[in-house]
Amino acid sequence: LFITFEGGEGAGKSTQIRRLANRLREKGYNLTLTREPGGSPGAEAVRHVILSGAAEVFGPEMEALLFAAARADHIEQVIRPAIERGDIVLCDRFVDSWRVYQGGAGNLDPAFLAMVEQVSVNGMMPDMTIILDIDPAEGLRRATERRGDDSVDRFERETLAVHQKRREAFLKIAQDEPERCIVIDTSQDRDIVENAVTEAVFGLLAA
Ligand code: C5P
Repeated sequence: LFITFEGGEGAGKSTQIRRLANRLREKGYNLTLTREPGGSPGAEAVRHVILSGAAEVFGPEMEALLFAAARADHIEQVIRPAIERGDIVLCDRFVDSWRVYQGGAGNLDPAFLAMVEQVSVNGMMPDMTIILDIDPAEGLRRATERRGDDSVDRFERETLAVHQKRREAFLKIAQDEPERCIVIDTSQDRDIVENAVTEAVFGLLAA
């Protein structure tokens, strides 16, 4: 089973992934926890280059292709082998973040993006994508609370309008692919969010 977590900054992805992982381990499931960009040694190297600021000299196509190359490696090195040995894979961001972040910037041709996505994913789409939804102003407040997290700097360089556009793009994906995506409102208490996430995943496991 392949489950991805998506959403804007400060939505609580890391907390909820950790909590879901605990719940699943309690039930005896074997897990692989991973993330995009990154997750395999090669993809982590690309992550480092992209998030180090070097990306400022990359054009939008180059950035999109680098993410896609990293994803292809991550899938073949880590995700597919984990699925084949029967693990539940929990991945912090995946192709939807790429659609929203790289796809939403730079006016890239949708046909180009779709083709690159297809090649990079190579059939390994998530069984379930949990989109943690937060108002960007609230997300910023939360992200700032845990200062030291490198996402705060990037967040502050971008306008609230950009974050609002990304939020809408995530919600649009959920609307277009309701069989894969579930949206959970994370302005609620963390325990309530945890229960909603757990219920969705255990529902899928029982199906
Ligand atoms: O998941 P997390 O918030 O830690 O992601 C780290 C950063 O990577 C994010 O702040 C986001 O700006 C960036 N990112 C990106 N494009 C992606 C995935 C993440 O720009 N496809």
